[in-house]
Amino acid sequence: MTPDEFREHGHKLIDFIADYRANVATRPVRATTEPGAVRAQLPAEPPANAEPFDAVFADLNNILMPALTHWQHPRFFGYFPSNAALASVLGDFLSTGLGQLGLNWQSSPALTELEEHVCDWMRQMVGLSAAWSGVIQDTASTASLLALICARERTTNFSLVRGGLQAEPWPLVVYVSTQSHSSIEKAALLAGFGRDNVHAIPTDDGFAMRADALEDAIRADIIAGKVPCAVVATTGTTASTALDPVGAIAEIAARFDLWVHVDAAMAGSAMILPECRWMWAGIEGADSVVLNPHKWLGAVFDCSLFYVRDTQHLIRVMSTSPSYLRTAADGLAPNYRDWGIALGRRFRALKLWCLIRAEGVSGLQARLRRDIANAQWLAEEVSRTPGWKVVAPVPLQTVCVVHEPPGLSGDALDAHTRAWAERVNASGAAYVTPATLAGRWMVRVSVGALATERADVEAVWRAMRAAAEG
Ligand SMILES: *Cc1c(COP(=O)(O)O)cnc(C)c1O
Repeated sequence: MTPDEFREHGHKLIDFIADYRANVATRPVRATTEPGAVRAQLPAEPPANAEPFDAVFADLNNILMPALTHWQHPRFFGYFPSNAALASVLGDFLSTGLGQLGLNWQSSPALTELEEHVCDWMRQMVGLSAAWSGVIQDTASTASLLALICARERTTNFSLVRGGLQAEPWPLVVYVSTQSHSSIEKAALLAGFGRDNVHAIPTDDGFAMRADALEDAIRADIIAGKVPCAVVATTGTTASTALDPVGAIAEIAARFDLWVHVDAAMAGSAMILPECRWMWAGIEGADSVVLNPHKWLGAVFDCSLFYVRDTQHLIRVMSTSPSYLRTAADGLAPNYRDWGIALGRRFRALKLWCLIRAEGVSGLQARLRRDIANAQWLAEEVSRTPGWKVVAPVPLQTVCVVHEPPGLSGDALDAHTRAWAERVNASGAAYVTPATLAGRWMVRVSVGALATERADVEAVWRAMRAAAEG
C-alpha cells in the first residue's frame, strides 16, 4: 500500500469508525454470534494474490461487525468500563502510523521522554508524591508480575544471580485477599512462589482484607519456618470494588519487612478525584502500585501504569545490557527496557497524552463524577424496591445486586439470578455480568462507559426488572 492509497483507505476507515461510534447505541450490546460462525465465513487458506482493500472492508462489514460485543455502547454495564476515548484512538493511530520502537532512548527519544512525562502527569493527577516513578506496561497482569518479582528479589537479596528460588532454604509467602484478582495468583505462580505459598486472607463484611487476619497469618508462617515476602492490597476489587485498608496493611508490612503492591487497576482512575483519595489512604507506604488508564479513564487498551518508589531496585532486577543495545545516552535518560519484561516497546504514551490534552483533567474528573452519581442513583433505586437488594458497598461505579422473589433461596436463587442476567444480555438491550460474592451469585452492574448517561442507567434498571420480575 502506497502513502496515497493509505490516505484514501485511511479516510474511509476513520469515517467508518466515526459512524460506528455515532450509531453504536442502535446495535444490540452483546454479539449474537454462535461459536465458530466467524471462521466458517473466512477462506481456509490465505490469499495467494493481492486483494483490493475494499474486499477487506466488505468482510469487515459482513463478517466481523455482527460478531462484536460493543464495549463502547452506552448500555454496556459488563465487566468494567474499557473506554476508548476518540482522542486516545487518534494517539494510538499515531503510535502505529509512526512505527516507532523504543529499545533504548536513542532508538526513539520522543517515545521515552513523552512516557516519562505522561507518567509524571498521571502521578500528579492521582495524588502520588514525587517519590514515585512510573512506566507504561501493557496490562496490570504484567505490572503485578513485575512487582512480585521485585519483592522476591528484595527478600532473597537477589537470588536470581545465584541459584534462584531453587536455592532458597525456606519458602517465600505472598499474601492476597480472597477477593484479589486472578492475575495476582497467576503472577505469584509465574514468579515461582508456588500455590502453596499464596495465602488468601479473609475479608470483612464489605469484602475488604482484614488487617488483623493478615498479621495473624504472617506470625503463623514465621513460626512455621516460612518467609513472608509480599502482600498485595487491592483498591477496587473485581467483584465489588472493595477497598483493602492500604494504610493498615502497609504498617504491618513495614514491621515484617514485606513488599507492598497495590492493585488499583480499576479504581486507580478514580484517584484523579481528590474526594476519592481516602480509598487508598496510606499509599505512600507501598512499594509499587498499578492502575489502568485503559479502563475507566478512557485510554485505549493497552495502557497500564506501574509506579515504584525504588526505581534502582526495579532496574537491577530487570536490566540486561548486551553490547548492541548500549548507547552514549545510557545513564542520562531512562532505558525503559530495564523497567519491565519486553525489550521492544510501543509508543504507548501517545494515547494517554492525547486523552489528557483533549479532555483536560477537569473534563476527566467531570465524567468520573457523573458515573459515580449514576451508580449511587441505581443503588438507591435498587435498595428501595421490594424484592431487590444491593449486596456490597458502592464506593465507586459498580453496583452488585440480587433479586430475591419470596420463597427462593440457595441454589434456586442462584439459578434465578443467572437466568435473569442472561435474559437481559440475550435481549441486547443492555449487558451485565453475573459473578459470585461470598459463595452466592449476584449481578454486577458496572457503570462508566463513555457514552453512558442517566437515561441509560434507567434503561438497564428497567431491563433488569422486566427480566427478573416478569
Ligand atoms: C482489570 C483488573 C486486573 C487485570 O487487568 P489487566 O490489565 O487486564 O491485566 C487486575 N486487577 C484488578 C483489580 C482489575 O480490575
